[in-house]
Amino acid sequence: MPKDFLKDAKSRYDVVVIGAGLAGLTAANILARQGRSVLLLEQHYKLGGMATWFKRPGGHIFDVSLHGFPYGMVKSCRRYWSKEIADSIVQLDGVRFDNPMFSLWTSFTREDFTNQLIEKFNVAPERVHAFFDKARGMNFYDDQATTTRELFDEFFPGREDVIRLLMEPITYANGSTLEDPAISYGIVFSNFMSKGVFTFQGGTDRLIGLMEQELKNNGVTIAINCDVKKINLNHGAIASVEVDAKGATHTIDCDAVVSNANLKATIFNLVGEEKFDKNFIDDARAVRLNNSSTQVYMALKEDDRLDVKELGDLLFSSTAPYFRTEALLSRDITSRTYSFYYPKTRPDAPPRCMIVSSTNANFDDWANLPKEEYEASKQDLCETTLDALEAYVPNVRERVVHVEASTPVTFKHYTAHLAGASFGTKFEGLAVSRALPQQISGLYHAGSVGIIMSGWLGAMNYGVIVANEVDNQLMNCNSRSTAEVEQELAKE
Ligand SMILES: Cc1cc2nc3c(=O)[nH]c(=O)nc-3n(C[C@H](O)[C@H](O)[C@H](O)COP(=O)(O)OP(=O)(O)OC[C@H]3O[C@@H](n4cnc5c(N)ncnc54)[C@H](O)[C@@H]3O)c2cc1C
Repeated sequence: MPKDFLKDAKSRYDVVVIGAGLAGLTAANILARQGRSVLLLEQHYKLGGMATWFKRPGGHIFDVSLHGFPYGMVKSCRRYWSKEIADSIVQLDGVRFDNPMFSLWTSFTREDFTNQLIEKFNVAPERVHAFFDKARGMNFYDDQATTTRELFDEFFPGREDVIRLLMEPITYANGSTLEDPAISYGIVFSNFMSKGVFTFQGGTDRLIGLMEQELKNNGVTIAINCDVKKINLNHGAIASVEVDAKGATHTIDCDAVVSNANLKATIFNLVGEEKFDKNFIDDARAVRLNNSSTQVYMALKEDDRLDVKELGDLLFSSTAPYFRTEALLSRDITSRTYSFYYPKTRPDAPPRCMIVSSTNANFDDWANLPKEEYEASKQDLCETTLDALEAYVPNVRERVVHVEASTPVTFKHYTAHLAGASFGTKFEGLAVSRALPQQISGLYHAGSVGIIMSGWLGAMNYGVIVANEVDNQLMNCNSRSTAEVEQELAKE
């Protein structure tokens, strides 16, 4: 008999959180701290969602999405998780760009970018300062009609090299394009520029392990291998969820649901479009999913060492003559972002060096391939990546002991995100996500939407906002209002 992963759960909770990505984990933790009974249901066999890792023989541990996040994570982790988690956040030693237009190293801070733009790119200082001030001043409530392209054209007309420097890492970081609203670029870019790029020392496994412990300490019931199949309503309000817990199915009653599952999957698959207003469904249908990714994971021999001073931690490399979003997504890969992992990533583990190459990708380029072609395409991805990496890591083929690839299909498989979207939805998803509780009392969504609310920091902060909103609804009194929390986070 398969194990029933929900056999020890109660039949009713104040809140059910569907999905243990960073937004779901954070929302569950805050609600439990606020005294709510919380059931956290995760369909995968481990917590973390896209914030995940996997092990391979020989002591190799690969991080999937631990490449870099802004300094804001320190404050969010200290406030909503623990001092131990916040204290493990450390700055990357070096970020590099290498493409036909320029090669440079940067600390990825406003100060360093300003110097490089003035000295290397010969941009007038007033223009650079004005651009940074404008980006820094952007917030949620600003005009959303201006596109990122228009923003760049205002400050750096005709400067494709400058646009590449400013845009390529953000496109990599959240899939945004020059056609997306300028605020989605400005907010994310400024977050990074405040202090540089940071990572979690100890790796994703340590982070999620510490979070799990914290959730347990705060009384959250955690159930893995529990796939939520349906959200049930009673007179337009949340009533219960139906869960496939492998060995049995369960119906768990609750007053509120926070869905960390993909926004469109929540609306169309878990609730059902007939339960919403027609106009809302039209808006939800129009929400575009964000793109997905491919990755190649490479482990060096046990005693082989890379040098951070030579390679840096993050390398944005491209052989494309210009920055073009289509080129970044193309199956004919020209742009790769390499993350180099050194023994410093996991100081308490056996010393290992790893390289992860990431490229944005379209789901459709992978999803419909016959099995053999899919496998051959993955193999080709590994081979071409090794070829490209040779320019930075000499003799890399002889030095690696393990190479494997993931595709948009892999991300869909493990996280149930429609089309394996790495960063949820495009900007319009945010309004639809925020409008859910007006449609169905007690139904909330927290997770990657709208670029700003995606990535490690964005997802976590969205979990904070929504947890406060749920708490407000359940208590209808003395918790801080959501608007207050939202504005505070927007300011940060
Ligand atoms: C290759 C890659 C690289 C990235 N690099 C970075 C980076 O360097 N920096 C950065 O900040 N961000 C990065 N990101 C993005 C970042 O990892 C995500 O934006 C963030 O982790 C998403 O968190 P989330 O809360 O939206 O939930 P997700 O991580 O999307 O998790 C959702 C969870 O819900 C679960 N679920 C779904 N449906 C159900 C159901 N019906 N029942 C139960 N459980 C369900 C899923 O299994 C999953 O665990 C990267 C992402 C990818 C894919």
